[in-house]
Amino acid sequence: MNFFPKKSLGQNFLLNKKIIKEIVKVGNITNKDIVIEIGPGTGNLTEEIVKKKPYKFFAIEKDENLFLKLKQKFIKDIHLINEDILKIDWNNFSNKKLLVFGNLPYNISAKLLIDWIRLNNLNILFSKFILMFQKEVAERVVAKVNTKQYGRLTILTNWKMNAQKIFDIDPDNFYPKPKVKSSLVIFEPKDDFFNFNNSKNLEKVTDIFFQNKRKMIKKPLNILFKNPERVIKKFGLDINSRPQNIDPLTFFKISKEYELENN
Ligand code: SAH
Repeated sequence: MNFFPKKSLGQNFLLNKKIIKEIVKVGNITNKDIVIEIGPGTGNLTEEIVKKKPYKFFAIEKDENLFLKLKQKFIKDIHLINEDILKIDWNNFSNKKLLVFGNLPYNISAKLLIDWIRLNNLNILFSKFILMFQKEVAERVVAKVNTKQYGRLTILTNWKMNAQKIFDIDPDNFYPKPKVKSSLVIFEPKDDFFNFNNSKNLEKVTDIFFQNKRKMIKKPLNILFKNPERVIKKFGLDINSRPQNIDPLTFFKISKEYELENN
């Protein structure tokens, strides 16, 4: 390759053609779709997406050098944007649902996921997200209750999205080779989700519960509620259980109770 990948921008380019094709296939792109790729890099996925002839195709790349190269290569096919993905105002980006692809730096994927979950109209703005994560993070996103991986990220994701891990990808398939394994996850926004006046209440409640996930739930309940006994009774909670034993729906209900008590 005739340039030096930038570590600061988490540049690990996916080189395995077979895997690239499989990722694009997961998106099921039709000629009606508005696709957006974030962090296209050298255009590996980009090229395969173009072949599927989406109705419209945006790509957002922060690295100016890569942006200029992509511009030469895909001049007719893509609306390229040289911007930091974290600065995009999704409410004003498109008036049709977006299908998102992203093999981004892992810290950025996780941050974006939370930003998206906070959007009130997530299901209006997006149809699907196909994103790469560090394997351990992907496992936390899709974890089942009563497992070690189950936690805040699982509950917040479950609130707004159906998420599924598709496959794992070995470091050997990237250049330069990342230190960790990766996993591809597909997310579909839910049309029906538990209603909060402010998502901060769910964030706060799960934050307090999972600050010490090995401890029993009595302590977070004491912190959050004036009368924890009433909440325990109302939701039939077992005070000997730990945060990892409480399913997402129960967390939503506890958070709603917290919201009602604090407004
Ligand atoms: N998707 C490509 C590149 C992966 S490397 C592939 O699979 O081969 C990650 C890419 O994300 C790099 O091109 C990097 O420059 C870009 N990137 C990193 N941070 C970004 C940000 N905040 N906004 C937009 N692009 C970013």
